[in-house]
Amino acid sequence: MTIYTTIGVTPIINAKGPATRLSGGIMRPEVAAAMVEASRHCVDMAELQAAASLEIAKATGAEAGYIASGASACLLLAAAACMAGLDPGRMARLPDATGMRNEVIMIRSQRNFYDHAIRAAGARIIEVGLPDRYSGAGVRDAEGWEIEDAISERTAAIFYVADTAAQPPLPVVTAIAGRHKIPVIVDAAAQLPPQANLKRFIAEGADLVAFSGGKLLGGPQASGILCGRRDLVMSAALQHLDLDIYEDMWQPPKSLIDKRKLKGTPQHGIGRSCKAGKEEIVGLLTALRLFIAEGDATRHRRWKALLETIARDLTGLKTASFTIEGGEYVHGIPLLIVQCHGKPDRATKVIKHLIAGKPAIHADPFWRAQNRVVINPVCMAAEDAGAVGKALRAALARVS
Ligand SMILES: *Cc1c(COP(=O)(O)O)cnc(C)c1O
Repeated sequence: MTIYTTIGVTPIINAKGPATRLSGGIMRPEVAAAMVEASRHCVDMAELQAAASLEIAKATGAEAGYIASGASACLLLAAAACMAGLDPGRMARLPDATGMRNEVIMIRSQRNFYDHAIRAAGARIIEVGLPDRYSGAGVRDAEGWEIEDAISERTAAIFYVADTAAQPPLPVVTAIAGRHKIPVIVDAAAQLPPQANLKRFIAEGADLVAFSGGKLLGGPQASGILCGRRDLVMSAALQHLDLDIYEDMWQPPKSLIDKRKLKGTPQHGIGRSCKAGKEEIVGLLTALRLFIAEGDATRHRRWKALLETIARDLTGLKTASFTIEGGEYVHGIPLLIVQCHGKPDRATKVIKHLIAGKPAIHADPFWRAQNRVVINPVCMAAEDAGAVGKALRAALARVS
């Protein structure tokens, strides 16, 4: 019996990774306990965010930090900060960005469904580059000069989606942006591990970076970190915090909000719908501390051990073979790759069979076209490994 079964919802085993549709991962008991403890007291939210800012700054090397309801929420705040700056009138007008710098430059190959967050703030995305992967003529992606070409007096920011394969490299983009004094926003939602990435994008010159709290950081599912330049984080805070207060009584913490830089007190801003509660903030800070303390190598060993337990159940099968990919690279995520033999749709059938099982097991269907079932360990409890191994073996033996 779980709290879910009491309302008719059956828990699943998430062997896909931190997908939002599968509710992300499992929080460590320390994180859950911190959230419960946070829930027992009331605090001033601006003071709590200022404390979070200090801790995030230390972890990321940025000047300041902030917590909202997800990386996507942080991207919305980032775009709003780059358009409105510290002008309360502009903050009030968003998402109507008429008359402001309201264009966000983005490499066309990096367009993705999360860029809704940038557009939701009122920005218009200006695509650059044509990553031709169709006609056979394209061997390059967007280049620095194309990004520079798109910069105008309407440019609010350059938006860069971090990935090991992203081109041109971030330092090339930040150098161009720096010459034109245009901020660079980096979507690094899913770029942890390696742990070094907490500092990397800031060190490479990004002005604002967003990390998901609900992915591998192991924080609450609905949380995210925004870190970067002090004035931009201040703008994000002003467009996110509840400012339902009389001006003469408003004394925000100076480290987060420097009141002297404002010509007036903003009202609730566009970020109001990205609310994070005190429980999420405290939970995410706790998760961040644990993530740093554990370190890539220990984390990797824990994940790999889980996959090895599953793999032990697959030995001797004639219908499939398996490998652990990324088993040696401790700064990444090891994956159990099960290669099905025989008919090309066997992996699809095995994946569906696992979903139909009790408990339902959701493997990663991304490589099913190559007849592969992929098991990602990061959202599984160690004690689930046995059940996954047995179910996988049974499915592989059964599906023809
Ligand atoms: C997951 C993801 C997001 C959204 O993160 P949330 O914390 O779920 O809001 C944004 N961008 C990319 C590239 C992602 O992978």
